[in-house]
Formats: sequence, C-alpha cells, structure tokens
Amino acid sequence: MYIRFVLDPFVPHGTNKIIRRVIKDLRNIFEEVLYSVETDESIVDLYQNKGLPVSKIFQRKISMSCRGIVIYLLSTKVIWHREPILGLSIPSRCVIGMSHIPKHDYKEWSSLIWELILHELGHSLGLIQKNRKNSIVGYLSTRHCINNCVMSEDLLDSVWKKKAKYRYLQASPYCEMCLSYLLKKNT
Ligand SMILES: [Zn+2]
Ligand SMILES: [Zn+2]
Repeated sequence: MYIRFVLDPFVPHGTNKIIRRVIKDLRNIFEEVLYSVETDESIVDLYQNKGLPVSKIFQRKISMSCRGIVIYLLSTKVIWHREPILGLSIPSRCVIGMSHIPKHDYKEWSSLIWELILHELGHSLGLIQKNRKNSIVGYLSTRHCINNCVMSEDLLDSVWKKKAKYRYLQASPYCEMCLSYLLKKNT
C-alpha cells in the first residue's frame, strides 16, 4: 500500500505527528505500508480568496508515478467549509479539512483527525460493502459500520461536536469485520 499525503502550507503544526501515528497503526495491519508527505503550494495559488470547493480536489489531475491513495490534508484557510473538521473520499482519494485548534484541545483534535484519516481511508478502499451485516446507511447514503470501529457513523457526530472517542487507545482502530475486508483487499 502506498499513501501519498498532500498538505497545504497552512495545515496545523501537529499534523505530521498524526500522520506518523496513522502509518504506525496501518503497519500493524498491513505488511507493507509506504508513504510520502509533501506540501503543495499550488493548492493555495489555484484557489486563493475563493476557497477551494472539495469537488475540485476530486477533479484535479494528479501526477502519480505509482498507484496508491492520495490523502489531502487541507486547512480551512484553503478549503471552503463551515465545519471545523471534515472528511470526504472517493476511490483512492481522500480529503481531510481541518481548522486550527487551541493547544489545550490538541489531544482531542489530534484524536479526531487520526480517526477521520483512517475512516476516509477505509471508504476509499471500499468500506462498507453493500449488504454487509452490522452496517447502516446514513448521511449522504454512505454505508457505515455499527461496531466499535473508526468506520462507525458516530464519528461524523463526534467530528461536528468535537467529541473524540480516543479510539487510538483500542487494540485495533477497525473492527474485525472491517479489518477482514481490508486484509482481503490488500492481498
Ligand atoms: Zn463515513
Ligand atoms: Zn467496522
């Protein structure tokens, strides 16, 4: 698995630490996880003043020298959205939007961003499959997991309310059902 993280220059400081944590957790699941982190100034140039509609990110042509997943981590300075944190995904591509959070909230904020990255990554890899047991169709007709899992829909609620569940303290971020799908997908 190759993951390419693309950041705008205004992304909050703690983001790199969260990326390292995400990679550490993915390496507990998958045999090979490669990644790169880059800052893309052109994101700002392209969309300065107007704000960047998320749909444009999905339309953008990306020069990819290899197959993989691109995760855009964008600050709300660049992305236009009224929510402090948001996540969206299509196959092989995710967008995480985030605003600056006061220092004392860092633990909660970083836990939410961590969970959101794994959540959107799960979607972009095909979770949750149609007709799967223990799943629910909710917001934007997206299917979510009802187990104690980062693919759960309660994440959306938590993100808007900034109520982290600190799932990084669990043995596995994904439940067994989601995990077995991801493992099959990756072989
Ligand atoms: Zn979702
Ligand atoms: Zn699950």
